[in-house]
Amino acid sequence: MTQDVLATFPAIEIKKNESLSHYTNTKTGGPADYVAFPKSIDETKTLIDFANAQAMPLTVIGNASNLIVKDGGIRGLTLILTQMNQIHASETTVVAEAGAALITTTKAACQAHLTGLEFAAGIPGSIGGAVFMNAGAYGGEISEVVAEVTVITPAGQLKTLTNVELNFGYRHSTIQDYDDIVVNATFNLKAGNQAQIQARMDELNTLRAAKQPLEWPSCGSVFKRPTGYFTGKLIHDAGLQGTRVGGAEVSKKHAGFIINVDHATATDYLNMIHHIQAVVFEKFGVHLEPEVRIIGEDA
Ligand code: FAD
Repeated sequence: MTQDVLATFPAIEIKKNESLSHYTNTKTGGPADYVAFPKSIDETKTLIDFANAQAMPLTVIGNASNLIVKDGGIRGLTLILTQMNQIHASETTVVAEAGAALITTTKAACQAHLTGLEFAAGIPGSIGGAVFMNAGAYGGEISEVVAEVTVITPAGQLKTLTNVELNFGYRHSTIQDYDDIVVNATFNLKAGNQAQIQARMDELNTLRAAKQPLEWPSCGSVFKRPTGYFTGKLIHDAGLQGTRVGGAEVSKKHAGFIINVDHATATDYLNMIHHIQAVVFEKFGVHLEPEVRIIGEDA
């Protein structure tokens, strides 16, 4: 018989039947059977070992900024890592735990006079999600600054992966192929001028605020960039901006974003994604592949 998660770990914050819409950046998504908020690598490992021993399905989420959780929710145990968020800067490196916000990590690097992470100043993900996705913006990518990453394998082994072993590509890392769980990442940076680092971060955040509908819930750019095309232009040229499905709308400010304007559900998001794919394919013969990760069960 399955051991009760709440009773087994009284010292760890764990919620039962909790709506994940409270955590996703789109404010949509169904319930997790159990969602736990480990504060340390030890707690994370203990929970993974427990799920393995109980044959419970295990899901890991960071800042849920690139995620659609279907309205039926997630069975088993879901870990949200945002409370495991220590960051340490030294002479030329920053080591950040997986749940640390990328934005906070860029600020820590700046405070330590370290340059290299400025491109990520406005990316609202966690370190784990950024490594998983090889997040990038304004000409920079996580792959260019990661030295190594510590993971827990699905079997519960702690392991270090070098940059080369992470096999980074466009919005891809090997974490996606093996279901490893990132617990921390080490970034190799260079000594720089703090005022210049701050100025570059401010500049990029101003650009971002001018182009992206940051005032609305969203999951960022929904689709990957197809080779030879710009996603936003395809969606714009297809006349889809402003189109609504339920409470989800194609942003008029940035065609690549779907915003939650009126109590959208995850199903609204998925129906909108299918609609955009169908219209763009019909008009231009281009298949748009989602960048956003879609997990969970149908309602
Ligand atoms: P989540 O959404 O929580 O998860 C994404 C995937 O990563 C899931 O499959 C999850 O299982 C997995 N994952 C998360 N943590 C771990 C872990 N510790 N170990 C293993 N797997 C894990 N992205 C860009 O690349 N560039 C941008 O400029 C950008 N701008 C954005 C702007 C806005 C307004 C928004 C809402 C999003 C934007 N994004 C951008 C998307 C998003 O912020 C990034 O993809 C980010 O890296 C996702 O991190 P996360 O912690 O939110 O991941």
